[in-house]
Amino acid sequence: MLNRIKELENRANGLEPSAAVREIITHQARDFAESFLEKLPEINTFEPNTGQSEFLDEPFSEDAGELPRLLETLETAVLKEGIQPASGGHMGYIPGGGIYPAALGDFLADVTNCYSGVSFASPGGVRMEQLLVKWMTGLVGFPANSGGDLTSGGSVANLTAIVTARETKNIRARDVDNSCIYMTADAHHCLDKSIRAAGLADCKKRLVPMDEHFRMDAVALEQLVIEDKTSGLRPWLIITSAGTTDTGAVDPVATIADLARQHDLWLHVDAAYGGFFLLCEEGRQVLKGLDKAHSIVLDPHKGMFLPYGSGAVLVRDIEWLAQAHGYQADYMQDAKIAAEDYSPADLSLELTRPFRGLRFWLPLKLFGLAPFRAALSEKILLARYFYEQLDSTPGWELGPYPDLSVVAFRFVPGQGDADAFNKQIVEAVQADGKVFISSTLIDGVFYLRLAVLHFRTHLAQVDYLLHLLKGLTNELGTQYGEQ
Ligand SMILES: *Cc1c(COP(=O)(O)O)cnc(C)c1O
Repeated sequence: MLNRIKELENRANGLEPSAAVREIITHQARDFAESFLEKLPEINTFEPNTGQSEFLDEPFSEDAGELPRLLETLETAVLKEGIQPASGGHMGYIPGGGIYPAALGDFLADVTNCYSGVSFASPGGVRMEQLLVKWMTGLVGFPANSGGDLTSGGSVANLTAIVTARETKNIRARDVDNSCIYMTADAHHCLDKSIRAAGLADCKKRLVPMDEHFRMDAVALEQLVIEDKTSGLRPWLIITSAGTTDTGAVDPVATIADLARQHDLWLHVDAAYGGFFLLCEEGRQVLKGLDKAHSIVLDPHKGMFLPYGSGAVLVRDIEWLAQAHGYQADYMQDAKIAAEDYSPADLSLELTRPFRGLRFWLPLKLFGLAPFRAALSEKILLARYFYEQLDSTPGWELGPYPDLSVVAFRFVPGQGDADAFNKQIVEAVQADGKVFISSTLIDGVFYLRLAVLHFRTHLAQVDYLLHLLKGLTNELGTQYGEQ
């Protein structure tokens, strides 16, 4: 038996490369990263699918592989096709980030495998995450007894908020049929998922009309609430957006907060896209009233330019979050500490989780806040610049002036089907590949969308898009009877 154990130990040691081997493979990975970043400005933001990924179908074998060959597979089978999310040319959907020190944070978090779920296990890891939450609750203007949690993204953060609202408002299964939720048609689709996952699908969902800027109409909201109350229903939750995905519109949160208070409703603000614009003056002028919400969602992997995998939920009173997610388990008895000192595991659905704090804390400390503020101001100004450039060019029809950094726009040719024309523009922009934009339907009409949020998107990328659009409308326009 002892021999067998020793023999297994030898083989299992394949999991622990020596310092010399670590040196080699770490360098290989680093060189790969450097070469990726060096080539990034030259490569396309979008490449169509060519089926290269067959490399990935190779079965796993018992034998060790070679890192250079595996990195080659990563390069050819994974990174070559589709949208390049690290590129500043990414101006579709809501772009993410990928600032470099966040990767170092992940590297160190993974090497140390620090467990930040429970304070007893890593008091410092938990404190680091609490510090980040506190910084964010301060940013939105929440009181000192507020709290929150770092999540994998905005969808899970929204689910956490909805569950907390349900528990705090004491919506039991028998109440669901009679309870009403208010949101606009432009609320992010993950909120519908959250409502279903939280067992609230049978709540009466009221789609509140929007004004001409695609913001929730607060007067219409109040009418709906009063009607529902009068007919004996139970209004309980308003879901607003501080930056919708479609048009970037910011709902009038301050006004809606007054209504929520008068009618005793929970006010949730989905600020996954827009929330971090609070860091710049242009954003602060638009994002008013967030401090009056009950729960807010932010996405550091959008507005703080972190790599994917960072969302955050903030709740006005940490007790609400704790009561909605509290647990007791005998096997965790050693980990229990003072009731008021909540750990992430007390505040979320997760127990074991990545140490999410380090990828966020490290860039904030290393870079300081100033470049983040500048980048966010720059994004807003780039969107305004783009809007104004198209607005002064004949043929372009624009959506509302951007509240933040999303612009909806379309070209209306002299004759022919404008929707088909704009679809051709999106396809042509994708075929060009240098930059990437997406499209949406606004009141059933096909619109192109620009979303400026990548930290690598600057004037050059926006000017390139303007130049490309000009060429395309000239070229396609002749087919549509222009000139
Ligand atoms: C991105 C986004 C979400 C979803 O967040 P994920 O991080 O993609 O899960 C929700 N709401 C809004 C407004 C968003 O922009």
